[in-house]
Order: sequence, then structure tokens, then C-alpha cells
Amino acid sequence: MLDTAHRTAYNDDHEAFRDTVRKVFSEHMEPYLDDHEADGLVPRKAWKALGEAGMLCPTVKEENGGLGLDFGFNCVLAEELAYMGSSAGFTLQNDITVNYFERLGSEEQKAKYLPGMISGDIISAIAMTEPGTGSDLQGIKTTAIEDGNHLVVNGSKTYITNGQNADVVIVVAKTNPAEGAKGTSLVLVDAGTPGFEKGRNLDKIGQHSADTSELFFADVRVPKTNILGGEGRGFIHLMEELPQERLSIAVSAQAGAQRAFDEAVNFTKDRKAFGTTVFEFQNTKFTLADLKAKLQVGWAHLDWAIARHLRGELTTDEASAAKLWHTEMQWEMVDACLQLHGGAGYMNEYAIARLWRDARVARIYGGTSEIMKEVVSRAI
Ligand SMILES: Cc1cc2nc3c(=O)[nH]c(=O)nc-3n(C[C@H](O)[C@H](O)[C@H](O)COP(=O)(O)OP(=O)(O)OC[C@H]3O[C@@H](n4cnc5c(N)ncnc54)[C@H](O)[C@@H]3O)c2cc1C
Repeated sequence: MLDTAHRTAYNDDHEAFRDTVRKVFSEHMEPYLDDHEADGLVPRKAWKALGEAGMLCPTVKEENGGLGLDFGFNCVLAEELAYMGSSAGFTLQNDITVNYFERLGSEEQKAKYLPGMISGDIISAIAMTEPGTGSDLQGIKTTAIEDGNHLVVNGSKTYITNGQNADVVIVVAKTNPAEGAKGTSLVLVDAGTPGFEKGRNLDKIGQHSADTSELFFADVRVPKTNILGGEGRGFIHLMEELPQERLSIAVSAQAGAQRAFDEAVNFTKDRKAFGTTVFEFQNTKFTLADLKAKLQVGWAHLDWAIARHLRGELTTDEASAAKLWHTEMQWEMVDACLQLHGGAGYMNEYAIARLWRDARVARIYGGTSEIMKEVVSRAI
């Protein structure tokens, strides 16, 4: 179990919520983790179970049908999910997409999507990346061109989290290609709209229970009212959400790193070699001591970042630094902890194998480590 004894970001309400999260996960997620991995997605019944327990989109304001809780509750859920070793796309909905709907949506859009996102009846995705461009988002080619009262969407997206399950996708598209970033808008496309096809559930190194997909748009007609947050304002809105998105990845990375460490401690204390436990070798103890120091610093830093974000103070460069540091630390942690398992670490039946596979992408998605360094260096 994740040790939260000395955390400073949370109050008693957050910790009570953590108890609920653990209970719901132990009933509806943990027994099925291997099934989710084998199936390549988390089924709707799990989303619905979380929805019923108030674990989806808890930050949505009461007037919009939510619980009106703070982002700390999202962080509690993200920590428990990562510590459990699941790559389910709940955090994408809780920490990323719902904010676009609540903050930017018209009354009609909010009424149409928010209740279902809270209950688990609606699963959402956000589609920025394309086969030809990811880091350089201004280079996207997908268009949404006005035709009377409609927009006609054409293009393709790839690596989209929740892509198979998605009922609605926030598509980043150029409504005015000549204007570049200023001609970029966020356009809602519902699953089932003619011309919108979901492609393959992509075959990834890890995060097998996350349905990461290609999406295709061929003359997809949607009403102009499907623009979210104003025509030509897409890039601004994407930038506004960066601190929370990057903090969210940092939270999961830190919790995943802690789980890897705990697995290594348990394994090495049990495993015998040369007449003693593997834990007793100086190399093991020093390695674990070094990693423990990094975790201690990591939790303190994470609590600082969460507290700053709860006060609305976390800047994009601070959040980018957090994503950079926690995901790089996670990678060092899972690799060292796998090494301490010896051959067992390479076997899928040991939790460390999945933690290692799943961690790799954290240095890539949500902006690569190199892009994080670019952003941080601009603030120096
Ligand atoms: C499992 C998974 C889930 C994802 N989920 C989503 C999602 O839900 N929605 C979505 O829109 N996208 C998603 N992505 C896409 C992800 O955000 C991109 O893969 C990522 O931003 C990198 O873009 P790219 O793959 O095009 O790499 P590229 O931009 O082609 O980068 C290739 C290499 O060049 C480096 N590079 C690029 N520009 C610079 C620079 N200026 N300076 C130095 N180095 C640079 C990169 O760091 C990288 O090492 C997901 C990806 C994965 C793997």
C-alpha cells in the first residue's frame, strides 16, 4: 500500500477519498488488471463503477452536476492508479479533457457531456498528435473548414489515449489553415459521426490496458457549434491546460516509482544468494538507499507542486520541470529495481516487469523530456 504518512499536500477529506479509491480499485480494477492488459483496454463497466463512486471528474462544480472538489482529489486517484500498476485512461478524463468541457463549453455542450463524463457513460479523448507531427503541434494538417452552418473535418490523428473507447473526441484542427496557430480550433467530434473512423488499437511496448489509437476523419460534418472555446483559440486553450496536464503525469510517475521501489525491497529481502538475502549485499543496500533518497525528495517536491497548483500558482515551466524530473527519476527507478530482481525482473509474472514497460512512455507523452527542457530553459 502506498505510504502517505508524511504527505503535506492533502487533508483528511483527501485521505478519506483515498480509502474509497482503494476500495473501488480492489473490487473493480485489481482482480482484472491482467484481463485489461490482454484486452488492450479497460471496459466500460469499470468506468461506470468509478463513476458511481464519485471518482470520475470530481472537480466538476456542483452547479454542473459534479462534486466540486479540488485537484488534490484527482491526484489521490492518479497516485493509487499508478501505484496499483494500471495504465487506465481515467486520469486523462479527470485531469485533462473534462477541464476543456467545463471551462470552455457552452451551456449546451456542458449539459450534453459533463453528466456522462462524471457517471462513466461518456469516455473522452483529446487528439492533437498526427502521423506527421507531435512535438511541433503547429504543423498539424487536420482541417475543419466552414461550410454553411457546419465544419467539414478532414485528417488523421495517432497515438490517441482512450481512442477505442472514446464517445467524444476533442480534435485539434485548423479552421483557418492560412493563420497557423491563430487559425487552430478545438472541435468536438462524437463517435458514430459519418466519416469518423477509429483505426487500430496500437500495439505498444507497455501500457497495454490503455487503448491508444489511430483516428481518421474523412469529410466529417459537424455543426459549427461543436467548436469548443471559440474559433481560432485552440492553441491558447491548449497552452492554458499545460500546467495541470504535466503535473498529472508527474504525479503518476512518482507513484509508479514508489511501487517499483517497494517491489524491489520485498523481492531482495526474500531472495537468497551466496548464503544470505540479496538485500544484505552492500550494492543492494546502497542502491536502495540512493533510490529512497530520490523518492523522499520527489514526494516533497510533488507536494510542493500540488499545493502550488491548488493555489493556482504553478507555472508552465515549473510543471514542465516537474514532469521532466519525476518521469526521468521514474525511469531510473524502474530500471534499477528491475535489475535487483535479476532474471525474475524480466518475467511478466512479476509486477516490476509491467512497471518498467509502462514507465518508458512517460518521458515521451504529454511532451518529451527534450521539449520539457526547451520550455524550462526559456524561463531561465
Ligand atoms: C502511449 C501514448 C499515448 C499518447 N496519448 C496521446 C493523446 O491522448 N493525445 C495526443 O494528442 N497525443 C498523444 N500521444 C502523443 C505524444 O504526445 C507524442 O508522441 C509526443 O508529444 C512526441 O511527439 P512525436 O511522437 O511526434 O515525436 P517527435 O516530435 O517526432 O519527436 C522525435 C524526437 O525528436 C525530439 N524533438 C522534437 N522536437 C525537438 C526540439 N525542438 N528540440 C529537441 N528535440 C526535439 C523529441 O524529443 C524526440 O526525441 C501519445 C503518445 C503515446 C506514445
